[in-house]
Amino acid sequence: MKYIGAHVSAAGGVENAPLRAHEIGATAFALFTKNQRQWTAKPLTESSIEQFKANCELHGYGPEQILPHDSYLINLGHPDIDKRQKSLDAFIDELQRCEQLGIRLLNFHPGSHLREISEDLCLDYIAESINVALEQTKGVTAVIENTAGQGSNLGYKHEHLAHIIDKVEDKTRIGVCLDTCHAYAAGYDLRNDYVGVMADFESVVGFEYLKGMHINDSKAVLGQKLDRHHSLGQGEIGWHPFELLMSDSRIDGIPMILETADPSIWAEEIQTLKKFAGIESS
Ligand SMILES: [Zn+2]
Ligand SMILES: [Zn+2]
Repeated sequence: MKYIGAHVSAAGGVENAPLRAHEIGATAFALFTKNQRQWTAKPLTESSIEQFKANCELHGYGPEQILPHDSYLINLGHPDIDKRQKSLDAFIDELQRCEQLGIRLLNFHPGSHLREISEDLCLDYIAESINVALEQTKGVTAVIENTAGQGSNLGYKHEHLAHIIDKVEDKTRIGVCLDTCHAYAAGYDLRNDYVGVMADFESVVGFEYLKGMHINDSKAVLGQKLDRHHSLGQGEIGWHPFELLMSDSRIDGIPMILETADPSIWAEEIQTLKKFAGIESS
């Protein structure tokens, strides 16, 4: 079964996210459990937690259909030890918020070397940070997202994801999220070689680690290393690879999340993807 949705707003409280997801016909959703541009946030209230769980149950969202995203400020591979620690503390807080909400996945961008340290050392730092965070929390899987490789962001090669996974001790709580826009901008030609890109992912990382996907078209051209999402079918990738994706049986039972440019057409995009996946709409 394909779970298809979008990154919906949690304005007014996390409990509103499942309601917004349901409104657009989503069978999966992403959200921020705190303001993504601030370091600290008030703890979730008991009533917000209860309402969130109740709304998820009401509209049929199980833990395998929810993929929260952490704060953009967090850099688990920061070259500076104090700043890395600050990121780690914030990351642990994010994992704990997921625990409280009964969510089992947390999606994050691996980190940036800021041109101060080597890629390998930065990847080692990221894995080290994840190890500490997993030790101090329970039940939530850390889901590393591939990136477009913009600036000094790591995660733009399947090998980067594999490097981190290799150094994470608890392999049961580490996974990856593939963003189609990021992959394309990083140089993986999904448009002309879907089969080849996925074969490379399978041999370098492995589908057993694929815990979620971000379904975006790209404004940036192949290999341009710019993170610019477009609406499906309107960018450089085009519709066809998304059609292939929706009938790819290796990619089942995980949240597939739109972060496309125009939220007003998310309902329509979800409909089209469901049609590709052979899902009857109610
Ligand atoms: Zn993404
Ligand atoms: Zn992006």
